[in-house]
Amino acid sequence: MRKRIAEILAAPEVGEQLQIAGWVRTRRDAAGFSFLEVGDGSSLANLQVIAEQTLANYRDEVKKLSTGCTVLVTGVLQESPAKGQSVELRADAIEVLGWADPESYPLQKKHHSFEFLREICHLRPRTNALGAVARVRSRLSYGVHTFFQERGFIQVHTPIITTSDCEGAGEMFQVTTPSASSVDSGEFFGRPAGLTVSGQLQAEVYAQALGNVYTFGPTFRAENSNTSRHLAEFWMVEPEMAFCDLARNRQLAEAMLKFLLRLVLTECAADLALFDRFIAKGLVAKLEAVVDQDFSHITYTQAVEQLQQSGQSFVYPVKWGIDLQSEHERYLTETIYQRPLIVTDYPAVIKPFYMRLSDDGLTVAAMDILVPGIGEIIGGSQREERYDVLLARMQQAGVDPLSYDWYLDLRRYGTVPHSGFGLGFERLVQFVTGMANIREVIPFPRTPGFAPC
Ligand code: ATP
Ligand code: MN
Repeated sequence: MRKRIAEILAAPEVGEQLQIAGWVRTRRDAAGFSFLEVGDGSSLANLQVIAEQTLANYRDEVKKLSTGCTVLVTGVLQESPAKGQSVELRADAIEVLGWADPESYPLQKKHHSFEFLREICHLRPRTNALGAVARVRSRLSYGVHTFFQERGFIQVHTPIITTSDCEGAGEMFQVTTPSASSVDSGEFFGRPAGLTVSGQLQAEVYAQALGNVYTFGPTFRAENSNTSRHLAEFWMVEPEMAFCDLARNRQLAEAMLKFLLRLVLTECAADLALFDRFIAKGLVAKLEAVVDQDFSHITYTQAVEQLQQSGQSFVYPVKWGIDLQSEHERYLTETIYQRPLIVTDYPAVIKPFYMRLSDDGLTVAAMDILVPGIGEIIGGSQREERYDVLLARMQQAGVDPLSYDWYLDLRRYGTVPHSGFGLGFERLVQFVTGMANIREVIPFPRTPGFAPC
């Protein structure tokens, strides 16, 4: 019977006849037989195959196998005398499905830099680290759906092509294509369109009909920021809740992050151990601490005071009214609080028009969640549900109310206090894996000047 290696190692049955299919990691020859390490991607662990010289194709094929070759191995599982593995597969037959020329195969056994691996995006998931990232990422994605679905949230597929620039920051990729039908403008949609920078505004529509909803989809930003935390295409998780204020929004975000960390700590232990050992020492203990502790919570005004009193010198000087830079965010969460930190109540002038204006008239009910090693991982707010206030904020921000008539309508017909947030999915994967660069936590990274495959 064909089995995945993860399945075999989870419950090994000595004496069982089975078949595996995978890629040769290494071949070692001994007197009268060879050892093959075979991996199939189901787990970090490989299965050792014992190939005896009595195999029909031993001399002509088995002895020529090299790293990267694809094999189908049929055999019997037996106890392994070797250290570090409980079982091995004694081969009755090895079929070679694909050769990999050892002279040109780019992935050799030696250590390759992540920069080099990015140049061979089509082969890098075969490395231990990138394979582990892919498994952890998949589990986190599953966890996101589990968390929300178990709590009765309804998933909404928001559009990828949009005619509203949610952040109002002009960072949209344009979608243009000649159209015969739109005679007037020549625009396919009759007006300028772009790739979405956030599904929030559309999620709000559904929250104001269905209550608790979430989106989980790709997001695009044409921002020219070549940092270790920005991609031009990334995935965002955006819950939106009706009848919900900022305090409950905050609690939900903290509960979600802890749920997701707990999930991977229990279900991806082997992969996390790899990251702990080779990528970020102490990672597992750090993640466990995050699950066990309460997040800290301060206001923006307190954050500014604490940064000013810290005596630390920053590239961007701190004063009330500035947007917190990555250096400030990281100093707060890494040095002062040493744990995830929720910062709320930012100045209205630095935040988008849809965030709810507070009674002081100066701040909005915004929240950012900052985590050590990364900085901002979540941005959210309570939304402005009052028609007049929203309209005034739009006008101040230079946003044309006519193009948001539908958004304003929601405040005219059955408006409701509501809140939500956006979790950058890759920042979460970065946090969980300890990967220094966001380009390593998405299968095919897109950044300015880079989109090879
Ligand atoms: P930053 O200040 O880090 O650029 P932002 O304020 O632009 O973040 P939001 O618009 O609030 O972020 O988006 C919500 C979340 O999406 C952020 O908290 C972050 O986790 C993630 N995010 C934002 N921009 C990017 C990007 N270019 N690449 C990857 N993730 C991103
Ligand atoms: Mn940004």
